[in-house]
Amino acid sequence: MSYDKIEVPEGGAKVSYDEAADELDVPDTPIIPIIHGDGIGKDVGPIAQDVLSAAAEATGHDIEWMEVYAGESAREMYDENLPEETVEAIREHRVAIKGPLTTPVGAGFRSLNVALRQTLDLYANVRPTYYLDGVPSPMKAPEEMDMVTFRENTEDVYAGIEWEAGTDEAEQVRSFVEDEMDFDDVMHDGDIGIGLKPISEKGSKRLVREAIDYAIENDRDTVTLVHKGNIMKFTEGQFGDWGMEVAEEEYPDDEVFAAPDSLWEEQDEVDIPEDAVMVEERLADAMLQWMQLRTDEFDVLAMPNLNGDYLSDAAGAQIGGLGIAPGANFGAGRCLAEPVHGSAPKRAGQDKANPTALILSGRLLFEYIGWDDASTLVRDAVEDTIESGTVTYDLARQRDDAEEVSSTTYAEAVIDRIEDLA
Ligand code: NAP
Repeated sequence: MSYDKIEVPEGGAKVSYDEAADELDVPDTPIIPIIHGDGIGKDVGPIAQDVLSAAAEATGHDIEWMEVYAGESAREMYDENLPEETVEAIREHRVAIKGPLTTPVGAGFRSLNVALRQTLDLYANVRPTYYLDGVPSPMKAPEEMDMVTFRENTEDVYAGIEWEAGTDEAEQVRSFVEDEMDFDDVMHDGDIGIGLKPISEKGSKRLVREAIDYAIENDRDTVTLVHKGNIMKFTEGQFGDWGMEVAEEEYPDDEVFAAPDSLWEEQDEVDIPEDAVMVEERLADAMLQWMQLRTDEFDVLAMPNLNGDYLSDAAGAQIGGLGIAPGANFGAGRCLAEPVHGSAPKRAGQDKANPTALILSGRLLFEYIGWDDASTLVRDAVEDTIESGTVTYDLARQRDDAEEVSSTTYAEAVIDRIEDLA
């Protein structure tokens, strides 16, 4: 496809995907679309790009970046929030990275981030949560956290429908449920807001499969399915049932062990085949406390959308917060890396925000295209820089022994470290 306003770099080639073999073909110089983002995205986007280029170059790789537009930059250039050619460019090039986008305030605006994830069917939102030396944390032993959350990205509340209390629509739904479905005893009198949330077998199974495959490939011990199935049996509960079905039916027993009755019984006495990944279930409310009290027991979590939202932010807080929390969205042969944080309008334009989350999101993209060497170098350089006490305001305010520097100075320090380590 030729684009109207996107400039395609002269060198480089597209990453492609062989669906039958489920394999990515990565050219020597991939073209990688990048959205710098709104608010602090304009501060951290370009400098994170420089850091990632430096790490690629230092490990013998080469990237041709292709800037694409969404949010404020798209409104200026196209007079719309999410131009079709931005979506097409990301679709065609398979891997991309984005900074945060502000959700415009006002009726009828869907989050641009959610729109991108849904349009491209990026069904798994993956957030690795690991501790970097030197990052201030409220926990006594933050280094015990080394967890990867897989959050379903296309259904549950992301595909939810709601009807406002007092509207004709809410009344129609109420009368359908009461009169035709015969549920009159559960509806309260008076005005009620009503919501529906779908959770499907296909959506649940592909997400859990992704989490189990990740655990196998990365030598993790457990995959924990986190839901609220004791209260919502046919959405949350079925997520758990379908997930356990994947574990039981799609993998050999010596590779994946579906723990029986893990919701209600300790698994200490269960005979698990050596080297097998154990797939277990936990209820979401209890999981939030175990994550803090028994942090090192958890490896990989797989969750419906809303649980994943809560749990991954809470996990991020344990290892230092939004400024350093990376993420990426995956679909079949697709990866869109993006930090957990938003556009933080009150910090925008001040060259102040922490670019680490976006830089570490780039690590996920590197790993996806098989550049593990560049990914490791980024982590080491970031960790060394933070440990040495060169940090942005968010970490500086929690440390007495660190110097607060601007976003740009911090990114330059990371690049210097990349060059030293290479
Ligand atoms: P936010 O942008 O994540 O910011 C909340 C606070 O987190 C900031 O005020 C700041 O705290 C801290 N923070 C976030 N990123 C940081 C960074 N890189 N470095 C240092 N501190 C950072 O959340 P929000 O204010 O609720 O949302 C703002 C807009 O972003 C909304 O329009 C929302 O819809 C959108 N959003 C977009 C995405 C996305 O693009 N994927 C995700 C979430 C939200 P202090 O004030 O304490 O310094």
